[in-house]
This record gives sequence, C-alpha cells and structure tokens, in this order.
Amino acid sequence: MKPYDIAVIGGGAAGIMAAIRASQLKKKVVLLERNDAIGRKILITGKGRCNLTNAADIATFIEKFGKSGEFFRTAFHTFFNADLMEFFQSLGLETKVERQGRVFPVNDKAASVVEMLKKALEENGVEVLYDSRVKEIRPCAGSLLVATEDGREIAASKVIAATGGASYKATGSSGDGFAIAEKLGHKIVPLTPGLVPLVAKEPWMKELQGVALENIRITFEYGKKRLSSDVGELMFTHFGVSGPLVLDLSSQVMTILKEHKEVRLLIDLKPGLRDEQLESKLLHKFKIKGNIICKNMMKDILPQRLITRFLKLLDINENLRTNQITQAQRRAIIRTLKSFPVTIAGSLPLEEAMVTGGGISIKEIDPRTMESRLVPGLYFAGEMIEGTAPSGGYNLQQAFSTGYLAGEKAANA
Ligand SMILES: Cc1cc2nc3c(=O)[nH]c(=O)nc-3n(C[C@H](O)[C@H](O)[C@H](O)COP(=O)(O)OP(=O)(O)OC[C@H]3O[C@@H](n4cnc5c(N)ncnc54)[C@H](O)[C@@H]3O)c2cc1C
Repeated sequence: MKPYDIAVIGGGAAGIMAAIRASQLKKKVVLLERNDAIGRKILITGKGRCNLTNAADIATFIEKFGKSGEFFRTAFHTFFNADLMEFFQSLGLETKVERQGRVFPVNDKAASVVEMLKKALEENGVEVLYDSRVKEIRPCAGSLLVATEDGREIAASKVIAATGGASYKATGSSGDGFAIAEKLGHKIVPLTPGLVPLVAKEPWMKELQGVALENIRITFEYGKKRLSSDVGELMFTHFGVSGPLVLDLSSQVMTILKEHKEVRLLIDLKPGLRDEQLESKLLHKFKIKGNIICKNMMKDILPQRLITRFLKLLDINENLRTNQITQAQRRAIIRTLKSFPVTIAGSLPLEEAMVTGGGISIKEIDPRTMESRLVPGLYFAGEMIEGTAPSGGYNLQQAFSTGYLAGEKAANA
C-alpha cells in the first residue's frame, strides 16, 4: 500500500483544482476518478462552451448562493474569478466576458478547459487513477483509508471528497459522496433539483414545444406573494417551460411548491410597454389593419406558433376581422400580453437538474478550510456542499474556489 499525503476523490472541477493546488504545495497527491476520463460534466457545461465563471464581484457571488453564500466567502477570497482566468491563461487558454458577466473560453470549447486541467494535473505530478469508484472512507491509525469498489485500499493523511451532486448521472456524479459522508456521521440536507425545467398542468403545452420567447419577464404568483424575474428568455417544452429565466428561479419555485399545490406563472410578453402604451399601439394597428383577420394581425406582436393558443385562451376566433374585435376583447388581449398564464405543478426529476440543491450540511464544514467538523483530515469541495446559485458561471467558480481552498488547507495542515 502506497501512502499519499492527499487523496482526492472525484475528477470534476472541484477535485481537479484541489489536486492541482495540493501538488503545487509539494504534496504527494492521488486523484481517484470513477470514469475513464476526468471532467465529463465540464464537457457539457454552457452547452459545450463552458461558462466557467462570472465577472461579478464577491458580494454578488455571495448573494447568488443565498443561505449558503456567506459560507463560501473565504473560498472566494482565496481563489476568485480573476485568479481562475489567470490560471487558464497561464496554461494557454484565453477567456472572454459575455453578456451578464458570463466568462467563456475564447474558443468556445469546454473540451479545451478539460484539456488544460489535464495538462495542469500532469505538470504538477498528480497521479490520476481512472476507473476507481470509491465506496468508503475509513479513519485508520491516524490516517484515512479510501476503499474502492474493486477492493483496492489507498491510505492518505488527508482526503478531499469532491464527488459532485446527483444529477446527469451519466457524467459520473450519482451522489456516491453523500452516502460515503453519511456513513461517517455527516448530515445530508435533502437533495432537491436546482436549475431545473418546470412542469405545467395545461395539456396544450405540447402545441408550443420549441417556441422560444425573448425579452419577456416572468412572475410566479402564489397566495398573495409574487416572485419576478429580470427580462430574458423562456422556452416552451412538451411538458412545460425551460430557458434561463425559468431555470434561475426554479429552486425558489420548488420551495414554494412544498407549501402550495401549484403556482401560477404569468408571462409578460411585452415588459417594455405599459398597458396604456400597448393599448394605443393596438388601436393604431386595428386602424391600419382593420380588414385583416385577427391571427394575421397578431403576427408582428407574437411568435407565429403562439398566436392560435393565445387567441383560444381568450375565446377569440382567429379568423375574426380585426375591426370586429370588441373593446372587451381588446382589453383581454392587453391583459394576456402582460400576463400570459401557465400553471406550474412541479419540475423534472433531480437527474435532469443542472445542479443539486441540498447536500453536505454547511454547519458541519469549517468555511475557512473546507475541513469536516466531524472527521479530522476529511475535506469537502464543490457541488456536494449544500447551496447552489443561478446560472451564469457561479457554480463552477464555487467548485474551483472550494477545491483550491481545500487543496491548500489540506496541504498546509
Ligand atoms: C448540463 C449542465 C450544464 C451546466 N453548465 C454550467 C455552466 O455553464 N456554468 C457553471 O458554472 N455551472 C454549470 N453547470 C453546473 C456545474 O457543472 C457543476 O456545478 C460543477 O460541475 C460541479 O463540479 P464538481 O467538481 O463539484 O462536481 P462534478 O463536475 O460532478 O464532478 C464530480 C466527479 O466525481 C466523480 N465521482 C463521483 N462519485 C465518485 C466515486 N464514488 N469515486 C470516484 N469518483 C467519483 C464523477 O465521475 C465526477 O467526475 C452545469 C451543469 C449541467 C448538468
């Protein structure tokens, strides 16, 4: 048995960065990955372009992680977005900042990110053991034993667990780390889907599959409360709604759905116009296009495929001439343009969520080091820690930052 200073479990963003940092500090590091390659999930991030971080400041990052935000403060201070961009630049990968501060590799290739991480592991002498699925960590005579599924045991002074969440299982993150940590006495905050498409009740959803709406605003209404988005994009699917605006509010909607059977989603299709402005626009249109049938008149107001359903909802015959539309119908059109209704009753399962909510309770991890408060010498990093952020590069930065901090602290302990 070959003793290592540090064993890292999981070759995702967090584990790779932890291994690199610990080996930079001259430790003998082994990285165990269950797949035959590292970074499987990174390859599918940002639709294959990898939105690796965000250009926002630390305060914004902390706010994005909600209840867990403060926990990540030290990690972000230790290794933040500029450090990450510099790290990739030093490896030969330039980055660029796009709208909303999203950072991508200049060549738009997630594969290059993985390639650079692999190069850094090699340059720093990290030993990578592929096809090594860890099933248990056991404290043993002052060190920790890492046991793999196929019966190998590896001893290390410190262990960094970075096995990711429990979604997109084909990438390797199937939630193993939660069972391993639970066995060691850690509390797992119930796992929930985060950044997940929402399921609607309306049977006509299928008709709208693939319709994409840009420059719209969404509001979720529950009881007397409302939860609104910025202006952005939404996509109808055969089961409901997806797209950036929906994904970003999905965790909050799922929390609301624990107390309410359903939530009303209201889509403001014209967020830039107030009711009066819309009314005068429509009146003008009715005047110049009075002889045109309704569904044709609506063409420059709504995407073609939404028009039929929109008029059906209002009980307006789509072949009615525009000059036959009554004042009440005009008002209803305006009302529905400002709040097109959909009933949300749930989400797709955790497997299809971009991130996993819940995880190792932050109460049981020291935020200054990422070390377990229960098992000395065991550290956690990445998505397996409780707390997620909306899309925009925040989640990968969390993985890189907590990985770096865990690697550094485990090496210096
Ligand atoms: C479709 C999709 C798109 C996304 N896009 C973005 C984006 O553009 N920007 C962003 O910031 N975030 C994005 N995310 C989220 C982001 O990918 C994760 O937050 C991030 O990858 C978490 O990194 P991690 O290292 O903690 O976990 P993972 O990347 O999940 O890595 C965990 C690793 O551990 C390995 N492992 C698991 N169990 C074991 C075991 N028992 N033994 C050994 N190895 C094990 C796995 O095989 C895996 O390689 C996206 C997620 C998805 C699903």
